[in-house]
Amino acid sequence: MSLLEGRVAVVTGAAQGIGLAIASRFAREGAHVVVGDLDPDALPNTPDTEKMRAVRCDVTRAEEVTALLDTALADFGAVDVMVNNAGITRDATMRTMTERDFDQVVAVHLKGTWNGTRLAAAVMRERSRGSIVNISSLSGKVGMAGQTNYSAAKAGIIGLTKAAAKEVARFDVRVNAIQPGLIRTPMTEAMPAKIWDQKMAEIPLGRAGEPDEVAGVALFLASDLSSYLTGTTLEVTGGRFM
Ligand code: NAD
Repeated sequence: MSLLEGRVAVVTGAAQGIGLAIASRFAREGAHVVVGDLDPDALPNTPDTEKMRAVRCDVTRAEEVTALLDTALADFGAVDVMVNNAGITRDATMRTMTERDFDQVVAVHLKGTWNGTRLAAAVMRERSRGSIVNISSLSGKVGMAGQTNYSAAKAGIIGLTKAAAKEVARFDVRVNAIQPGLIRTPMTEAMPAKIWDQKMAEIPLGRAGEPDEVAGVALFLASDLSSYLTGTTLEVTGGRFM
């Protein structure tokens, strides 16, 4: 029996990287999956099939997140799993970071995750079932220089996850978070080699993670294997900053 047989999952920011790995892994485990992404050019990575839908969606806009969830309800009849994964970086030191770069990063990560969490929870509580998985970051645990915007937003996701978990636990809706470390995706491959090497030196397992290694943990949190976990944060970091 596959772990998500008969379940319907929605994954944001799933045109590439970690989100794409999560959507693909969920589909392999039997789920129907609706993927949302801001970038319509990248959505062909996840073409519409019998079990998958791709929708253009900006997570900072509540009405677009509602439309994403409505696609899952209309085409597949439920929302059992919601993964709030969409993300951007606009790195700069505080001395040079613009207010716009601060606001954008907080909007995509924090408001986007709030939109996805509250709107999915509203659907899930009606059926007394659901699992919400929020993608935070190790930056939200330790704080990274050059990422006051990103670290603040990713730490905020942890508080949001715990508060939401308390609100919806009585409806059997679980809310958990993942803090990935250095994972090989288009986001991190854009980093200068020197920064990549510095980060690698901090990882006890001695290598970067692959998107599918985050997807495996998202699968655990999405499935009944984690039925007694809520409000938790799982670090997928190769032991970095343990
Ligand atoms: P990525 O840049 O490869 O993919 C992010 C996706 O999000 C893109 O397809 C992009 O179009 C989409 N997106 C951006 N803004 C959006 C919006 N407003 N609405 C909808 N979609 C939007 O990044 P990734 O490395 O796969 O990261 C995925 C998540 O994991 C992010 O939240 C990121 O912060 C987090 N994360 C990544 C790492 C890492 O090392 N790669 C580490 C920790 C946390």
